[in-house]
Amino acid sequence: MAKPPVKLETWLVVAGRPEEAGSPLNPPIVPASNFLRGAGRTYAREEGNPTWEAFETVVGGLEGGRALAFSSGMAAAAAVFGLLPEGSLVVLPTDCYQGVVSLAKEGASRGRWRLVRLPLEDTAAWQRAARQADLLWLESISNPLLQVTDLVAIAQAPRKAGGLLAVDNTLATPLNLRPLELGADLVLHSATKLLGGHSDLLLGALVARDAGVWTRLKKARTLHGATPGVLEAFLALRGLRTLAVRLERAERTAAFLAEKLAAHPQVERVFYPGLPSHPSHEVARRLLKGYGTVVSFVVRGGAGQAEEALARLRLIRHATSLGGVESTMERRASVPGQEHLPPGLLRLSVGLEAPEDLWTELEKALG
Ligand code: PLP
Repeated sequence: MAKPPVKLETWLVVAGRPEEAGSPLNPPIVPASNFLRGAGRTYAREEGNPTWEAFETVVGGLEGGRALAFSSGMAAAAAVFGLLPEGSLVVLPTDCYQGVVSLAKEGASRGRWRLVRLPLEDTAAWQRAARQADLLWLESISNPLLQVTDLVAIAQAPRKAGGLLAVDNTLATPLNLRPLELGADLVLHSATKLLGGHSDLLLGALVARDAGVWTRLKKARTLHGATPGVLEAFLALRGLRTLAVRLERAERTAAFLAEKLAAHPQVERVFYPGLPSHPSHEVARRLLKGYGTVVSFVVRGGAGQAEEALARLRLIRHATSLGGVESTMERRASVPGQEHLPPGLLRLSVGLEAPEDLWTELEKALG
């Protein structure tokens, strides 16, 4: 599997740029569905578009496989589930992004596959499941409890012939973990989040290790029309150019805030894989280069107190989603499908504001 000839931080700056003399430094936005007949591509939904391809080149190199851009992270996830033959066995973590859980449950309720949920920390159960599963779905850092999977142990366990191990790498990013290198078959990104980094687009990506799997996914994208917009691909690539510096800064702030929150009397519990108190800390230390930019914590007093804290926010935006330059926070149990979470659990996506300002804001919000 090709690792770029330079460091990943360099690759994401230099890759996917035009080479011809006199061309712009950045790949231009090519708003084209249709191309002149002759040699080469004829129609974008089938053969792609140069603007998506620049983004795919960069993401593919970062993850060490071949990438395909989709209209959203969920479109990418749906393409993976669409590969499954009738009656497949799908295994999903108990802590998992709720959109993917809904997608898996919907297919299961229609009898398209059987769905089993396993706790991320039960590595042995995942290893056993690998022998029977058609799709093992993991999150490198889970959303929202920020658990870290022992991906090395799970990827090395014998898998059913044709069974796929897919890893949603949205929260870790390839700068912290490269699942294909460890033996996964597929990586998914909601590029809407950290890759794009500015909360101004929806975009997804899949990266496959195997050319055959990539071809099947490309066919799925063509048939279902889950293609990205050119502006989104352009903006996501522009966002990617600064991923390394954004990530480094936000991770440092996240670690600072996680420690402060853990010592705050109004906070019952903090979930951050960089804290020694987090159940996944040992695995995270072994696998991850950095611990990510999201901190979840439980406010004493439950939903009411957590909602009051949200109402007091000024700098941090009370909003869903994560991975933008601006910090956002929400009470996850208020999101449909997430009612199983502690009612007072707040998920904070840390942005690029001054750490001290964010802490002052959190202290005020906690009261
Ligand atoms: N995976 C994770 C971990 C997410 O947090 C999300 C969105 O919140 C998705 C996938 C879905 O991505 P999108 O919203 O781009 O469809």
